[in-house]
Amino acid sequence: HKPIHVIGGGLAGSEAAWQIASAGVPVILHEMRPVRGTEAHKTDRLAELVCSNSFRSDDATSNAVGVLHAEMRMAGSLIMRSGDANQVPAGGALAVDREGFSEAVTRALEEHPLITIVREEVTGLPPANWDIAIIATGPLTAPSLAEAIRKETGEESLAFFDAIAPIVHFDTIDMNVCWFQSRYDKVGPGGTGKDYINCPMTKEQYDAFVQALLEGEKTAFREWEGTPYFDGCLPIEVMAERGPETLRHGPMKPMGLTNAHNPSVKPYAVVQLRQDNALGTLYNMVGFQTKLKYAEQVRIFRMIPGLENAEFARLGGLHRNTYINSPALLDGTLQLKSRPGLRFAGQITGCEGYVESAAMGLVAGRFAAAQRLGKPVVPPPPTTAFGALINHITGGHILTDEEPGKRSFQPMNINFGLFPPVELPRTEGKRLRGKEKTAAKKQAMAARALADCRAWLDRIETLAAAE
Ligand code: FAD
Repeated sequence: HKPIHVIGGGLAGSEAAWQIASAGVPVILHEMRPVRGTEAHKTDRLAELVCSNSFRSDDATSNAVGVLHAEMRMAGSLIMRSGDANQVPAGGALAVDREGFSEAVTRALEEHPLITIVREEVTGLPPANWDIAIIATGPLTAPSLAEAIRKETGEESLAFFDAIAPIVHFDTIDMNVCWFQSRYDKVGPGGTGKDYINCPMTKEQYDAFVQALLEGEKTAFREWEGTPYFDGCLPIEVMAERGPETLRHGPMKPMGLTNAHNPSVKPYAVVQLRQDNALGTLYNMVGFQTKLKYAEQVRIFRMIPGLENAEFARLGGLHRNTYINSPALLDGTLQLKSRPGLRFAGQITGCEGYVESAAMGLVAGRFAAAQRLGKPVVPPPPTTAFGALINHITGGHILTDEEPGKRSFQPMNINFGLFPPVELPRTEGKRLRGKEKTAAKKQAMAARALADCRAWLDRIETLAAAE
């Protein structure tokens, strides 16, 4: 077979190369280190962990990232195998000896007879004779390749920073306090006039909230990140610093909104949340990108009326992060619509985290190998963690936005809000309440994911054997 080219030997690219070679297809893996470094990598090893040494929870019965671990192990993941072999004690989490881990990945790839590793920077899109290729160059993609991607996909399609607003699980929002309404009941494309969830504030509540934002502990930018503030996505605390009224005239403006629970009292300020996924299980806090520390975000955002018991699927942030507008650009097998055969994988697709990046490398590698072998490219069902993540990246995300041209797609870790809801058995559904019910639903989603992942892998094997 003709080789498949994988650009970038990080978490995603290493896993993709392994999966392709495991399918019997030759791979050429292009990694620019040590010829050219990034601001965060320190070694020339493949799959280097640039920050924490944790793959997070390893609990496959009730934690979404734990489920992803289990699915990856089922699919023969090199990243998981090397993580398991280099585990260090970390309670219920899977943490690894970072040197031993990336050494193990590097060795396995170097020793594989079908894998050739080329240490070079790829400075443009794959040439035409690399007919099947995967770009997995990560959040710190080298500039000339980033520029080439931008030229291919369009000016607005490549972001160099993420501006992440927190995301709340819908079922933890108190709808006895909040109400659905679009500003001035405006009906946009695909809208209903009731597209936003609104949280009302009195003057006292607003003043206390602004004070808390000012006093809250913040994370600093890394030196090389610069201070990437640009109009339209200032951190909420920076807006608060500009004056006590700034937020009330910005993202927290109360105009055009009437409190459905108390129409005669005009709210002094309003926090709006917008539906974030097609399933309607997640809502993002509009305009609330922030550099506040995570614990501070939870404490301060729970001061907002209606969000007192909010559970966050993602907290806010602002980082240097190169990623494409995948929902518009990629198909359901991570393939660039404008250039079939070229796939993206890892953090550059808009997932977030070591494990998620490796998982997207795993599926992209399998899709590319199937394509080369002339077999059907079968995506995992959306009930699996693999499928839920692909769905977030390529399709499940709501793209309509108030301001046309403004992108709303932001990176995200795997979480149960990305899975289709489950129905509990009737007796259990009736008996359980509150936290117990949520826990039972998570367990049911986890069990469903693992069973469906097994069935997906079995189906692919059957298809392969049939030929
Ligand atoms: P990477 O692992 O970065 O791999 C991309 C590879 O491509 C690199 O080896 C790079 O050298 C190479 N490359 C880039 N451009 C080219 C080119 N033109 N030609 C050839 N090779 C190229 N996630 C977590 O789960 N936990 C954390 O603690 C964490 N901390 C992070 C800290 C920082 C500073 C950053 C930037 C990200 C962090 N992440 C973290 C997010 C993310 O999980 C990691 O960045 C992860 O490594 C992404 O995997 P990837 O394979 O997509 O990219």
